[in-house]
Amino acid sequence: MATSAYREPLPHHIPAIKSGANCARCPLVNESCGPVAGVGPANAQLLVVGDYPEGPEVDAGRPIETDWSTLRRLLSGVSFRVVNSIACYPAPDLKTARKIWKRNKAGSAEEACLDLLRNELSAFGGHAILALGEHAMAAVAKCYGVTVGRGAKERSGDKRLAAHGTQRGHPFRLPDGKWLLPSYPPKHKRRAPHWYGAIVDDIKNAAHLAKGGDVIPDPDWIYRPTLETILDWCFKSRASGQPVMVDIETAGLDSASQIRCVGLGQEGLPIIIVPRFQIDGTPYWTQRDLDKVDSHLRVLHDSTPLQFQNGYFDTRLLLHQGLMTNRRKTWQDLKDLHRNSRESDCSHKLASISSRFALVELWKGDVDHKALEYDDAELTPEQKEQREYEYHLYCARDIDLQMRSIRGVVCWQAEDLA
Ligand code: SF4
Repeated sequence: MATSAYREPLPHHIPAIKSGANCARCPLVNESCGPVAGVGPANAQLLVVGDYPEGPEVDAGRPIETDWSTLRRLLSGVSFRVVNSIACYPAPDLKTARKIWKRNKAGSAEEACLDLLRNELSAFGGHAILALGEHAMAAVAKCYGVTVGRGAKERSGDKRLAAHGTQRGHPFRLPDGKWLLPSYPPKHKRRAPHWYGAIVDDIKNAAHLAKGGDVIPDPDWIYRPTLETILDWCFKSRASGQPVMVDIETAGLDSASQIRCVGLGQEGLPIIIVPRFQIDGTPYWTQRDLDKVDSHLRVLHDSTPLQFQNGYFDTRLLLHQGLMTNRRKTWQDLKDLHRNSRESDCSHKLASISSRFALVELWKGDVDHKALEYDDAELTPEQKEQREYEYHLYCARDIDLQMRSIRGVVCWQAEDLA
């Protein structure tokens, strides 16, 4: 491993240097481990960005050589260009190499190679970028000036990528309008075979976006229903006897936390978000009307088959606050179904499960109640109204994804039993 950040580049680095790489400051410059140049047409529809080349890629002189045939198969019909966010192999792996570079004050290949990727991104004229790996996603985000992960003070409208494990499978609209879809490289299946189905879906979704496709639209939903609309919805729902998907938004996590709204979804009916309290704690209804709303909800919850994502939390609050009285009630739980499915080893978070059944942006970080607590007082009435709308839309989207996901997981189970 090189110990200097200022070594003279070898002649075979000249093309990379001409394309923006700062090889003279890179700890990999004299390691005989690259660079491996990008492959594919300059006017490709899709840009595939990998983490870095390894032995097979360096030997073949082609980025993502190990996964080349898989990419060709899954991306048939789409022209794509493949590059790595670091053009040389930081053997034995990036994590170990980083420690050595830090110890030796040798600079960083990630920094030195960033302008090479930046120039690739600038020249790319297609619709979608598929980032195959955590570092690839972080490097693309850095080139675009997009933050990754949750900050201490998020505000409404902040556009940031979630951590790679959460963002995986969810496209992100970059500042120039292109889609970034993070996933893992197909070879990840050697270490984590349970992720392979999701990776295949992600690559197919990237092809869809590259061809000008879009994410799925928001569901039909009812915002701020009247008492009559709530009563009518509950009546139709109980008459049909179909399961009702329930999701609550709350002011906190303990049993006494105010339930701000209750989202309800059932096949054949638009999703309805029943408001109870506004984000600042103000009641949405008069006490008399709130009692009526709660009564409709109580009857519905007690008399209809229910579905939840992690219903242990929701039912605890519903029971504690009298919006449900039957303590013996059982329900169908997406999280439990997923735990017992073919993807039992994958994450059971809604963001991860739903990426298999719906191509949607990840919205949770923007309007989660945890992000609302400290900035609400600073908002104008119009901004508050917008936040209320976003909050309820967030709940409606969750209901939609939970319904799609529960259908999908039940289908998997039926297929596996057949
Ligand atoms: S990783 Fe990039 S900057 Fe470093 S030597 Fe290779 S091409 Fe040059």
